[in-house]
Amino acid sequence: MNGTEQGSYDAVIVGAGFSGLYMLHKLRGLGLSARIYEAGTGVGGTWYWNRYPGARVDIESQEYSYSFSPELEDEWVWSERYATQPELLRYLNHVADRFDLRRDIQLETRVVTAHFNEGTNRWTATTDRGETITARYCVMATGCLSVPNDASFPGMETFQGKSWHTNSWPRDGVDFKGQRVAVIGTGSSAIQSIPVIAAEADHVTVFQRTPNFSIPAHNGPVDAEISADWKANRAQRRKEQRETGFGSLMITPGETLALEDTPESRQANYQARWDVGGFALLGGYADLIVDTDANDTAAEFVRGKIREIVKDPVVAEKLAPKSFPIGSKRICVDTGYYDTFNRDNVSLVDLRDEALEAITTTGVRTTAANYEADTIVYAIGFDAMTGALGKVDIRGRGGESLKAGWEDGPRTYLGLMVAGFPNLFLVTGPGSPSVLCNMAVAIEQHVEWISDCIGWVGARQMGAIEATAAAQDAWVEHVNEVAEPTIFPLANSWYLGANVPGKPRVFMPYIGGFSTYRDKCNEVAANGYEGFAVSSDAR
Ligand code: NAP
Repeated sequence: MNGTEQGSYDAVIVGAGFSGLYMLHKLRGLGLSARIYEAGTGVGGTWYWNRYPGARVDIESQEYSYSFSPELEDEWVWSERYATQPELLRYLNHVADRFDLRRDIQLETRVVTAHFNEGTNRWTATTDRGETITARYCVMATGCLSVPNDASFPGMETFQGKSWHTNSWPRDGVDFKGQRVAVIGTGSSAIQSIPVIAAEADHVTVFQRTPNFSIPAHNGPVDAEISADWKANRAQRRKEQRETGFGSLMITPGETLALEDTPESRQANYQARWDVGGFALLGGYADLIVDTDANDTAAEFVRGKIREIVKDPVVAEKLAPKSFPIGSKRICVDTGYYDTFNRDNVSLVDLRDEALEAITTTGVRTTAANYEADTIVYAIGFDAMTGALGKVDIRGRGGESLKAGWEDGPRTYLGLMVAGFPNLFLVTGPGSPSVLCNMAVAIEQHVEWISDCIGWVGARQMGAIEATAAAQDAWVEHVNEVAEPTIFPLANSWYLGANVPGKPRVFMPYIGGFSTYRDKCNEVAANGYEGFAVSSDAR
């Protein structure tokens, strides 16, 4: 099964982030040859590209890390409760070195096509450097949030200052001293960066189209007690983590119902969870993600906090989200976001009152005014979940294009494979818990399932494995069915592709819960890869 001549491998892996690095390590463990192709000049994926000021993870550091190597866990010490982007990038570089991965990683190379050859049961990939690679397996480790949303504001090209996109930030950073800065967007990236930029710049004007719910991180050094507990009980904590719905011990779902609790007790519950910070609040009651009235009690609690923190009541009201249930868009986790609007050098422009018309040579023009700026920061998000897959011309059986087949929304079996695309694996693809889970946990589970599957196929001398259309149809139906009664379809979120003009409105991740999903994947494998067709390899 080994094919080691130049350009020919058992597996080609696209992307050197959390997913690709572990995938390479696992495939090597099976004795296979594999090579990663990565567009960046370094490894790290998300943590390589997103270097904007204030960038940090929103899951506690010890939970947002690999669990496959106890030695790695022993030797790596996280310094903050929510690790910063530089620390995460150091960690992923350490992993690349520690497991000797770099010799099979080709940087500054973008895979542009991947075509399946039915005659040989192999994939042929080409790169933007003109190389051609063939491989039995193709693993798309391209990330869920890796393709920037298209920033096509009229007049952008005429702006005479500097402008940056949060998700392709310059490696040397940006000096905001003395600058008037316009920030467009108020999602997680903006909410993390605005307080840091405001502390340095002369003035920051925030252009908000939709306010978001944000909860304080209460970041600080890693709590010594938590650290000691994880050291002593790591295997148990990891097991518990995998048994949760979101792949994290931070969200312990309440068993009672919000509307059956008294207002006083509810307030105390929300306050306790607000004090913990981050996603804890969403676990407050069992009905918060299925009952909009219950959800509104949590939303109102957060709106109350915004009104308490922000001194100007008009600004507070503009910052208070009212158009979607809390949690139906990913909650933001911040450090001093709302308080930043009490600073004299920060102002808020509500694009619901005055629409953004154009970028001018000197700033931003709305229907009401011109706002002068020296620097513009676009914090406008991503073409999520399908964007990176759509960037590669992927063709399966009969030359069918993945992108064309997904015109009405992505269709996968378990978010792992696609009917008609044999031996093509997606790490955290649409239809899997992915972005609704701690990504580190979701990625490990997928990488391990994929390498087990590849090992199983190889051991039986099979040539190809692919999802059956029937299993895929049933899974897509199930993914929609579990999302339908929840709050998630009620927001114009990137989970639904609603942030990208023209993208079909389909809820892409699986909301059935990580542990349920993991059990399903294990059961499928235990039943001889139920729902998959395998073809023997006569070649
Ligand atoms: P986002 O949540 O999609 O936010 C993009 C923002 O830009 C929104 O406020 C959006 O407004 C605005 N926007 C987009 N197009 C616009 C336009 N044409 N005119 C005006 N405003 C526009 O993107 P993100 O902040 O990069 O975050 C995306 C996801 O990445 C997060 O949900 C999270 O999963 C992940 N992330 C995580 C962290 C972390 O804490 N670890 C940090 C950053 C990102 P609308 O809401 O009206 O569309």
